[in-house]
Amino acid sequence: MTETSAGILTIDLDAVQANYDLLNLRLSGPELAAVVKADAYGLGLGEVAPALARAGCTTFFVATLQEGIELRAILKDADIHIFNGADHGEGPAFIKNRLVPVLNSPDQLNIWTNGCARQNEHGRADLHVDTGLSRRGLTASELSQLSGALPQMELVDIDVVMSHLACADQPDHPMNLEQKHAFDAAVSQIGSKRKSLASSSGIFLGPQYHYDLARAGAALYGVNPHPGAPNPMRQVVRIQGKILQVRSVDTPTSVGYGATHRATRPSKIATVAVGYADGYFRSLSNAGTAFVGDYEIPLVGRVSMDLTTFDVTDIPAGLVAPGQMVDLVGPKNPIDKVAGQAGTIGYEMLTNLGMRYQRVYSGGGRALK
Ligand SMILES: *Cc1c(COP(=O)(O)O)cnc(C)c1O
Repeated sequence: MTETSAGILTIDLDAVQANYDLLNLRLSGPELAAVVKADAYGLGLGEVAPALARAGCTTFFVATLQEGIELRAILKDADIHIFNGADHGEGPAFIKNRLVPVLNSPDQLNIWTNGCARQNEHGRADLHVDTGLSRRGLTASELSQLSGALPQMELVDIDVVMSHLACADQPDHPMNLEQKHAFDAAVSQIGSKRKSLASSSGIFLGPQYHYDLARAGAALYGVNPHPGAPNPMRQVVRIQGKILQVRSVDTPTSVGYGATHRATRPSKIATVAVGYADGYFRSLSNAGTAFVGDYEIPLVGRVSMDLTTFDVTDIPAGLVAPGQMVDLVGPKNPIDKVAGQAGTIGYEMLTNLGMRYQRVYSGGGRALK
């Protein structure tokens, strides 16, 4: 424990590598690419990406050009793809950093082919086709128009043709098969390129969704790709908050801003030094729980910026003294559970972890394969 920080965020890089192995086993054949956008889902690109490379990962996806440039500085040899594609004027930065854009629209295709023509080279790029998410990617009609523009297409060396599923975390949802059919129809127009449809949850829909390459993010970081079933992934994150004070209260005392909690019996309240500025969401107010060892303790009152209060009346006194730590996320309350209590998903919780935690990385030192 540190003397100076009020919370400890432990990131288990062995677990990240074990999760990479586990997904790889599920795929048995197709390549597993790691999605490390948003600072590796808030866990630290500089630590997580090398750990994944040591686990054998060679292909990485990030969202933005800036993230790609950062990752290139960390991994000199990795194959790095950029979901957002290349915008006007960005071509040289892509080429200099050996980044592969995912082209999402006819406009992006033009930007890239023109850029490549000027540079007199065949720029490798991926093509994203929209099969039902309606966010980005070429629509079916844009795609069929492209077939008439083959000379232009020849300037681009299309590597991966990809699409993204809307409901992959609901295995029985009819959208999954509809999107798979739309994807098959799309790729049949493009010819033999590498194909990619599955992200974390898609891997668990079965081999017919695996194609040549899967793009996993959340599952690598311990989020359950299979909500409703036991989580097959190892937990990566533990968040501990330090108890600052323990006070006794009696009726009719209230706790916290807005006096939203009132003691109904003589109680003990522990004040923990983590709040919404640390990404411990305010929506956990009067709804969350934490753990002291094996004891679950209810969050009472509102989460404030730096502090959160828990009812520890029923916990043996020795376990809840100032300076001791409580598990805000831990072995008994994994990220998905706490995110659920906050009314959100593990993805949002991870990408909002604040900057005030003392970050402790463990493991991850596997020899480069
Ligand atoms: C973020 C993202 C992924 C990774 O999704 P996970 O559910 O975190 O595995 C894959 N593909 C695309 C297009 C994405 O934007």
